[in-house]
Amino acid sequence: SIIVFGSINIDLVATAPKLPGAGETLLGEDFFKVPGGKGANQAVALARLGVPTQMVGRVGAQSFGAELMQNLQDAGVQTDNIFVDETASSGVAMITVAHNGENQIVVIPGANGRVNQVDVERLSRILPTATALLLQLEIPVPAVIAAAQAARSNNITVILDPAPAPSDLPTELYSFVDIITPNEVEAGQLVGFPVDGEDAARKAAGVLLQKGVKSAIVKLGAKGVVCATNKETFFVPAFSVDTLDTVAAGDAFNGGLATALYSGLSLHQAVIWGAAAGALAATKLGAQTSLPDKLTFEAFLKE
Ligand code: ADP
Repeated sequence: SIIVFGSINIDLVATAPKLPGAGETLLGEDFFKVPGGKGANQAVALARLGVPTQMVGRVGAQSFGAELMQNLQDAGVQTDNIFVDETASSGVAMITVAHNGENQIVVIPGANGRVNQVDVERLSRILPTATALLLQLEIPVPAVIAAAQAARSNNITVILDPAPAPSDLPTELYSFVDIITPNEVEAGQLVGFPVDGEDAARKAAGVLLQKGVKSAIVKLGAKGVVCATNKETFFVPAFSVDTLDTVAAGDAFNGGLATALYSGLSLHQAVIWGAAAGALAATKLGAQTSLPDKLTFEAFLKE
């Protein structure tokens, strides 16, 4: 199986004619409640693509916990190792979207912010059953490091999506990571120079290799993907699709990438699968709603 250790959120989305100013009350129009969190998104991406997937993390008993668990189970994700925290709310993103497309977001980490060594111990018990561990940065970094270290000592492939963009990561984390998968913004934060396009991405990937990862994959949105290892550097163009909404394209990418590696394919083929899943996600609205299922994915790859 593949294990995802990370965030589980509920997104509360309101649409309004404009963003409210300080102290202002506005009448909005629509309200949506949708499951999210990069960890949960990546777990759903994997399960939809047919990979046996286990999620490790926390939801809050006080709000949305049962609902978030159910959502993951409905997607086919194994949730036995998600801890229901009695004293916390679930992770919540309060999002306002204005007519002009601008948004305003307050994220309450809630239970995600309480993930710690106890959760890493639960994770460690199931690591021997897994081939890969997917990590992101929406839970506390010390827990991410401990998880990566535990996976490395079990010889399990560690795939780190360094999102949201950190200003800096502890050097030891890099040494436990097999594959790091930043987008342009995240890559720029990690290497300290702007990453915009293929040339800069090649340089950034080189810097990330020097920091100690085995492979660096820089996601360039509709411009494609750069992948570097100590043996080779290659570019994979983006699939040409009718783009509607790129939310969760990065999560879909990591799902496609890990699915290919789980199936025993090469890193090069895995990057192509990642790009295909990312492109499919860009053709649909929303986060988890846009993640492709196995049939759609296989049909797209055959085109
Ligand atoms: P993130 O969502 O993390 O910012 P990207 O936007 O770079 O990441 O998207 C991840 C991957 O998904 C890209 O590298 C690309 O392969 C694919 N992708 C994203 N947007 C598009 C698009 N508009 N057209 C085709 N492929 C896309």
